[in-house]
Amino acid sequence: MSKNLIGIDLGGTTTKMAFLNEDGEVLDKWRILTDISDNGSHIVENIVKSISKHIEDSGKTTNDFIGIGMGTPGAVNRENGTVTEAYNLGWKTVQPIRKQIQEGLGLPFEIDNDANVASLGEYWKGAGSSEDDVVFVTLGTGVGGGVIANGKLLHGVNGGAGEIGHIAVQPNGYLCTCGKKGCLETYASATGIVRVAGDMAKEFNGTSRLAELEQTDEKITSKLIFYLADNGDILANQVVDKVCFYLGLALSDIGNTLNPASIIIGGGVSNAGNTLLQPTTKYFQQNAFTSVRDSTKIKLAELGNDAGVIGAASMALQFR
Ligand SMILES: [Zn+2]
Repeated sequence: MSKNLIGIDLGGTTTKMAFLNEDGEVLDKWRILTDISDNGSHIVENIVKSISKHIEDSGKTTNDFIGIGMGTPGAVNRENGTVTEAYNLGWKTVQPIRKQIQEGLGLPFEIDNDANVASLGEYWKGAGSSEDDVVFVTLGTGVGGGVIANGKLLHGVNGGAGEIGHIAVQPNGYLCTCGKKGCLETYASATGIVRVAGDMAKEFNGTSRLAELEQTDEKITSKLIFYLADNGDILANQVVDKVCFYLGLALSDIGNTLNPASIIIGGGVSNAGNTLLQPTTKYFQQNAFTSVRDSTKIKLAELGNDAGVIGAASMALQFR
């Protein structure tokens, strides 16, 4: 009988887990709340307990599994299987994740950062299927990315490959959490889009529901901005156009460097669908080199929230 894989997608609010077969089909998936109390010291222990219980409940033993893969926020040391600087998890110091999980479950274990893992998911079973050169960009609270070239995830010499969110798109632009100015993340993340809207509203003269809402206590979200843009709001459309210009410009730089078959846009902001995709593709094409423009496609992600567990599980295939 063929064996199964375990994927873990660790997030600041919930931890998603799944059992998959070797073809990447999800057999069982579930989630638990991520308990970040006591400096996140319960997180790994809770994951081990939850997986043990699911193995038992499914009538299997650890012998029925090949291994475990996990995506995590923070700075990952893949060689040592450790994570540090995952502040949204309360992990300030080095966490020996591989040691804890291998001791707890007795299965081989691989770990990588969450954006890289999501890109592996889309590459294996989502929008990148059957292509060996794929770039993934995720637009959420921040902007992350992953680069797959010749079927291999790129890490670079110090794990910094695929940090698409920190491509500078505006010299001397908004200050980024990384300390640089004008990073893509400061414009095209969910929080960046809201910031762009706030600043553009100050300069706007005209009729706009978004401009009106900016004057009230209403909480403006990127989702609301895309919704208003869809419904003809002039300012909201100007905001979306500006955001998509920066995104399309950054993606054209990536395209001109790597000429992948596709650049896949995922994360919460990508739920905006064509309202995001269409202008981004336009600006990508304006700025891409001819041979890149004619061959690299901009696509929306297909796996949604499952990209993380699927990509994580794919890393365990190496233990076959
Ligand atoms: Zn940055």
